[in-house]
Amino acid sequence: MDKQQEKKNTLLDPDKMFQDLTNKIKENCPGMNLERIKAAYEMARSAHEGQLRKDGSPYVTHCVAAADITVDMGLDEDSVVSALLHDVIEDTSLTHADIAKQFGDAVADIVEGVTKLTRVQYTSKEDEQMENLRKMLMAMSKDIRVILIKIADRLHNMRTMAYQSPEKQRSKSLETMEIYAPIAHRLGMQRAKWELEDLSLQYLDPAGYREITSSLEKKMDELERFMDSVKEKIQTRLDAEGVKSTIYCRIKHVYSIYRKMYAQKLDIDGIFDLCAFRVIVDNIPDCYNVLGIIHDMFNPVPGRFKDYISTPKPNMYQSVHTTVIGSEGIPFEVQIRTWEMHYTAEYGIAAHWKYKMGSGASAVREGDEDKFAWVRRLLENQQESDAQDFLHNLKIDMFADEVFVFSPKGDVINLPAGATPIDFAYNIHSDVGNSMVGAKVNSRIVTYDHVLQNGDIVEIRTSKNAPGPSRDWLNYAKSGSARTKIKQWFKKERREENVIRGREMLEAELKHNGLTLDDAQDTEAIAPILKRFSFSNLEDIYAAIGYGGITATRVANRIRDELRAKPDKKTALDKVSEAAERRETNAKKTGKPVHGILVEGLSNCLVKFSRCCTPVPGDDIIGFITRGQGVSIHRRDCTNCIQLMNQPENQGRWVHVSWADSITDSYVTTITIVSKDRSGLVLDIASMLNSINAKVRSLTARDTGAGLALTTVSLEVKGSGELKYIMGRLAAIPGVSSVVRNGNK
Ligand code: MN
Repeated sequence: MDKQQEKKNTLLDPDKMFQDLTNKIKENCPGMNLERIKAAYEMARSAHEGQLRKDGSPYVTHCVAAADITVDMGLDEDSVVSALLHDVIEDTSLTHADIAKQFGDAVADIVEGVTKLTRVQYTSKEDEQMENLRKMLMAMSKDIRVILIKIADRLHNMRTMAYQSPEKQRSKSLETMEIYAPIAHRLGMQRAKWELEDLSLQYLDPAGYREITSSLEKKMDELERFMDSVKEKIQTRLDAEGVKSTIYCRIKHVYSIYRKMYAQKLDIDGIFDLCAFRVIVDNIPDCYNVLGIIHDMFNPVPGRFKDYISTPKPNMYQSVHTTVIGSEGIPFEVQIRTWEMHYTAEYGIAAHWKYKMGSGASAVREGDEDKFAWVRRLLENQQESDAQDFLHNLKIDMFADEVFVFSPKGDVINLPAGATPIDFAYNIHSDVGNSMVGAKVNSRIVTYDHVLQNGDIVEIRTSKNAPGPSRDWLNYAKSGSARTKIKQWFKKERREENVIRGREMLEAELKHNGLTLDDAQDTEAIAPILKRFSFSNLEDIYAAIGYGGITATRVANRIRDELRAKPDKKTALDKVSEAAERRETNAKKTGKPVHGILVEGLSNCLVKFSRCCTPVPGDDIIGFITRGQGVSIHRRDCTNCIQLMNQPENQGRWVHVSWADSITDSYVTTITIVSKDRSGLVLDIASMLNSINAKVRSLTARDTGAGLALTTVSLEVKGSGELKYIMGRLAAIPGVSSVVRNGNK
């Protein structure tokens, strides 16, 4: 036979495989609709038509094999159908809709879920990241059957890994070892876990794997003789005691021996319990009965007895374990359990479709509650519904309140459900959050309130010049830590803004009570409040109101109450004059001027000069409290300012400001020269300004089209006197009709 021929003979025949599957279903799952399963097979076969596996077999053989594993796991009809179709969305032109039309939404959703898991990018990471990735995969599988089918898929791929390239063998084995075997373990599926581990080990450490298997082979005769004799001894005794039992024995799986060898730095001869016996009985009392009999027959090894019946493992595993020493001095482990426990141990969560669980399973220890909350929830769910179908409807709600997303580097970040890019950014670092200027999810730009989904890849754009968080962010952030960090930022970085905002809020609140800020400055009224909240001055209170540490209503009410309680001996007139006096002194004691400006009642607040009227010292000025940008200083005769004053909603925002006594700075202001449009005029203006040593910042000229020219000059002056002088000199230039300050009519 030539090689070509040989290869052909080993090729798998999908129709024959499907026939075997059908027979298996007929035998084990009589309730299933075979026509529906056949239809799924037909759909998969035609969709994958022409695609081949690495061994040369038709691709659909993989789908049938995966379905076969789901039958072995004891899953339901929808699972078998979904397993047959599990790769069609990923690898063929069929869509969710195509599947839904023929097989219903449940199947289509499962197949889509498996596809999503397949697309998750895997890179090996440290343990914590791996755990997050596992959780994410589980959370992404809204229906637990998604993950079970994914495990079946992976199991078959690992079984046929021999045909892949060495790199693929390694990477898939690593992924299996780090992701899928632990998930199988977590779901209590020992059988799948062991097989996944042994298959992976074969590729990850071929030499180590061979070392163990070959020495096991050498010992095989001896081990088998030993196992047979022990099994028979136990069986005879149990029969004599009238305990109905089935005994299995096996050599432990390769990876568990491997781990022990490496953990304990032993060679295989040093691993004493290579064999494990399993005694399966009908009920729990018999478990303990058998335990007593075994301990009577053999010497128990101290410290090796474990009772997972009264205290199940987090993955619902139950059994009694003991290690004893046989007559030949060889120790071995005996696991004793009921049939229900046995199926749960072998198939874990998947066993629920077929077998109800024992009542003991709900006995999760109290201390484990948080760690194993998801198990508890599973068990609670189960009590509420029929065990037969509770997993059908089970959405994996173990992570219902969490969402798992990727950073661009592939790190998995765990956030509360409903989280937005803001939560993500602050989760990375508060600096990232504070300097965020944009966000992308799966390469698309999104708004800050975009709700993240499991598996999203989130990218945050930052900038050194970012304005920092806005108060809206507090509404979008879901996680407490993000909210705290945002609040901290406001508290620290925006004190001036907080002060201004808090002052504004308090003033509005006082107004409701018929009071003014002057009342807040009444030391007798404010002192108890300062003391109560440990503030050192009124400005601290403003700041606290501004960042949301205390409400304006609360402060205003306290001020009102204090004032009411205070015996009022003064007349209204006294009050008015007092207030005026206070204003004067306040203005003086307001502390350091900022840019030569004193703002009444506020110190060190952000001050900026309005662009519209560019005030200079000597001008009559007033302050306007802007939203978020401090106090803006206007000239009282500024047209914008007059307009603003007429708006009732802005009434509360005006504040008294004054120029400081000693000013050394220069101030930039802008004037406009109206003149005839004649040649040489700009030059005349420039040389005039030069001759009087004016500090010109900019000079631009344009003609208005009606024989007139407008020249705008920005210049630095010490005060209004100097400015008046310059304007006078400019007005004297021939052809100039007027010189006006900007901001005037
Ligand atoms: Mn597959």
